[in-house]
Amino acid sequence: MRTKLMAVVVGAVLGVSGAAFAQGTPTTPAAPKAAPAGKAAAAATAGKTEVTWWGHAAFVVKTPGGAVIAIDPWLTNPKAPQGATWPEAVDAILVSHGHFDHVGESKALAQKTNAKVFGSFELVSLLALPEAQSMGGNVGGTFQVKDATIHFVEAVHSSSYQADPKAPAQYAGAPMGFVIEIANGPTLYHSGDTGAFQSMALIAEQFKPTVALLPVGGHFTMDPAQAAVAAKLLKVKTVVPMHFGTFPALAGTPDALTAALKKGRGTAKVVVLEPGKATAL
Ligand SMILES: [Zn+2]
Repeated sequence: MRTKLMAVVVGAVLGVSGAAFAQGTPTTPAAPKAAPAGKAAAAATAGKTEVTWWGHAAFVVKTPGGAVIAIDPWLTNPKAPQGATWPEAVDAILVSHGHFDHVGESKALAQKTNAKVFGSFELVSLLALPEAQSMGGNVGGTFQVKDATIHFVEAVHSSSYQADPKAPAQYAGAPMGFVIEIANGPTLYHSGDTGAFQSMALIAEQFKPTVALLPVGGHFTMDPAQAAVAAKLLKVKTVVPMHFGTFPALAGTPDALTAALKKGRGTAKVVVLEPGKATAL
């Protein structure tokens, strides 16, 4: 245990110094690899940041520098796009908290792609992946994945993990959100599951996110009215609604968010993503 903890601590320190190094150094694009046949479509979007919603809170982000980052990959959720192909290569999997609708298929995806899994120390430990893939941290941590700098930030929610539905729930550390700063791209904020909270203003001050992926379904998270308040605190230009419509209980809608923003004189634009369709942000 002690050895494992030390490895995690050393890994976290290296992650921070790696981020500092990258931020203080002019960004050099990775040497282009020979494009395999059939990758012409991917080449056409080079230089952009592409975000694909996979329904619920699941997203895939592709950066200009070639990082592929999956967030809360519940690939089998009821709103997941039918027939869409999940990326074969994934660098990082971010898991906001331990509930099944966010952990989803993280472990299988990590085993298939060899991606590193980022999340709370407790949750990542429970996933029992090889140490080289286990990037457990906590709020305040910063990690570098190619041209993406990932910050762990606060979320107001709960977190427990069940390895299978019959097993008792285990403590899974703090729930979290993620800020992803992309070199030559947007700064994305995926809030995880959360209510609106005053420290979103601190996230705005520290990281200046431009795009916020926010839940609007209500019941377990913010509803549209609270998401409109959150968008103001975050000072973002764009809000991408998520975590709605998956189950009847998640009744908030993007239209209600648009109306709430208008009523509160919020300036953020609501961009509703179509599941499975890559969108440049
Ligand atoms: Zn959830």
